[in-house]
This record gives sequence, structure tokens and C-alpha cells, in this order.
Amino acid sequence: MSAPDDALPWPVFWRRSTRARRVSLRIDPIERRVIVTCPPSIALKRAKAFLAQHRSWIDEKLAALPDALSLAPGSNLVLNDQSLVLSHAPEQRRPASLDGDRLIIGGPIERFEARAVCFLRQIAGMTLPEQLRRHAASMACTPSSIVCSAARTRWGSCTRTGKIMLNWRLVLMPATVRDYVIIHELAHLIHFDHSQAFWQHVERFHPERREAQNWLRHHARGS
Ligand SMILES: [Zn+2]
Repeated sequence: MSAPDDALPWPVFWRRSTRARRVSLRIDPIERRVIVTCPPSIALKRAKAFLAQHRSWIDEKLAALPDALSLAPGSNLVLNDQSLVLSHAPEQRRPASLDGDRLIIGGPIERFEARAVCFLRQIAGMTLPEQLRRHAASMACTPSSIVCSAARTRWGSCTRTGKIMLNWRLVLMPATVRDYVIIHELAHLIHFDHSQAFWQHVERFHPERREAQNWLRHHARGS
């Protein structure tokens, strides 16, 4: 159940749930919208009134969300710890090139963001596996394979067969946070759970794992 709502100042996703006892709302930080869950018996009008009552809370929560990744001419980003500014050169034939601290994207402006993402994903594909292998060597474990993904909400994952997935967006995070995600997934090769033994193993290789987790909670879209 979802419909655009002109009367409300933010995008709202309406969900009917047979398990819901009352109307509840939460903020979806990835899509930057409000998710409202209603029991089947509640009239839409009442649910909307509920939403109106919580208007200032919603305004506050949405305003506090970190900025979405902006990939436009002039935006700044940090790629594998190097600060870069994006610039546009319509006449440039190469989709993307690096010149000092400038990442220059060629071609029409409509393709700008897609080309920038493509370049960043290429860099991720080249650098993340290498960083993972370096950590794997110091942790004395070996993943069966490494994949870079574009998942929207997961920064990493590990399967029972030892296949590790890392999100390409990790290249845009501080090194300590990236290291934490990599070490977390590698630790799953030894402990396939989130037991105390697992966290002890993570902390052996990343003593500041709580700071990294906090950073992800506050800065990254999704978790
Ligand atoms: Zn885990």
C-alpha cells in the first residue's frame, strides 16, 4: 500500500499490516521518507491525523539525516582517504579521469552521476579485494571469493562457504570504518554468528570497533 501524498511535506510510504495493533511510524534513512504502518481496521484519515500530530518529530528526524551522497560538479568526496573534488568537462572523451585532486567526468551532464558512480565502483573493484586480502593475511584466514556489491543497505556480508561481499561505497568511508567492515566479515570465517567470541575476535584486530559502528550509524545511509 503506497501512494504519493500531495498534502504532506515529505514522501510517505503507507503499509497495512495485519500484525500491527496501532499506527506506528519510522524514518527510512535511505529513501529519506516516512514509513507508516497501520492495522487494517484503521481509516486512512485517522492515520493521516496521527502523522500530522507527529509532524515536528518527523521534520526534526529528516533534517538530522546525513546528506545523501552528492555526485555533481563541485561536490567533494573522499576516495580511499584522498580528498577529491568533482568537475565536469563535457568535451573530455574519457568517461572519467583523475588530475591531482580533481576527478573529471566527461560527456553530457545527464550522464555525470552515472559516470562518476561507474568510476568509483571500478576503483572499489580494484582496491577493496586487495585491502581484504591484506587483512585476511594478518588474521590468518582465507575467503573463498570476494565480490564488490552495490547493495543499498549492507556494507558487507559473509556466507557459510566463505564468500565475502563488500559494498563499493566503502571506498568513500574513513579507513578505520572500512577496516572495521572488512575485519567484521573476515571474523565470520571463524565465528559464523555475533557471539561474544566473535566480537572478541573482531576487537583483537580492530580495538576501536565501537567507534566505527557509531560512525556507520550516524554517517552512513542505511547500516
Ligand atoms: Zn556480522
